[in-house]
Amino acid sequence: MAPITIQNLKRHCVYWGGKITYNGNQVKLVNTCTIDNLQMALWVLSRCQLNFFQILPQVPQSRSLIQMIEFIENIDPANHHSNYRNQWNKAKEKFILDIMDPQMRPPVNIYGEMDFYGSEYGKFIVHLANFQLHDVRQICTINCPNDGAIIRRNEHAIYLNKVNNNVVLQSMWTGLCSQCRMHFDTMVEFGQNNPNFLIIQTIHRVIEYHEMPDTIIIDNRTFKLICATIHDQIRAHFVSIIKINESSYFIDGKGRVVDLLPAFNQNILNRRRLAGPEKYYKMFISSSLYFLI
Ligand SMILES: [Zn+2]
Repeated sequence: MAPITIQNLKRHCVYWGGKITYNGNQVKLVNTCTIDNLQMALWVLSRCQLNFFQILPQVPQSRSLIQMIEFIENIDPANHHSNYRNQWNKAKEKFILDIMDPQMRPPVNIYGEMDFYGSEYGKFIVHLANFQLHDVRQICTINCPNDGAIIRRNEHAIYLNKVNNNVVLQSMWTGLCSQCRMHFDTMVEFGQNNPNFLIIQTIHRVIEYHEMPDTIIIDNRTFKLICATIHDQIRAHFVSIIKINESSYFIDGKGRVVDLLPAFNQNILNRRRLAGPEKYYKMFISSSLYFLI
């Protein structure tokens, strides 16, 4: 991965809120942390993996996604006509108008605001579903007629869960086989689709940041972690960790905070009280961005 400086992360850091032109009116965006962190992470990915977005799967949202990233890339401190607020507003407008499913766009409320309070899934992840379409194959018992059968086509959701203290990948499709009556597992198969990034959800509050796998293998492809988001319950606010090579950076759109986490060591897990950025190693992950290597 191409290195990126902390100064660069600070300069391009997302900011909470925003302003867009919507149906000819100026609309204020609030509670944008459900979209901010993953938007920022996609830009970091474009910076750290050269030409990454030139091999994007050809789906209807591809062009808009590239334009959204370009707005963020063009933040230039030397040019005050393209300051970070303007550029982030354009990036958010691009996402809301051209990538987000119009049926799921938050309505403008009586204060003239569009409120993005909610889940990262509903506000961001589902709208990028086309980039990670796959089939789901059932795995139950050898010799069972259902073993290996495709049970879902064009699914997009992939999860990380913790089972018997191990972090495992799962599809949302699971249950009892109608033939052999055994609990079945599932396998993700990309087929003709070639996703080069995946947004993976984490089963609610079971995996801490230090437990996140650095790489995952799905359908013989290896993906590497670049961002994990955290829902800070005390603040009812999403923040994130950007991981570049061995460095982890804390990102918070509120106040545009960027902080380097100290290197991880097992002692961090044993300490009762953690102060400063190291506490994020022990916080639960909401969703994550992985890219194909
Ligand atoms: Zn079966």
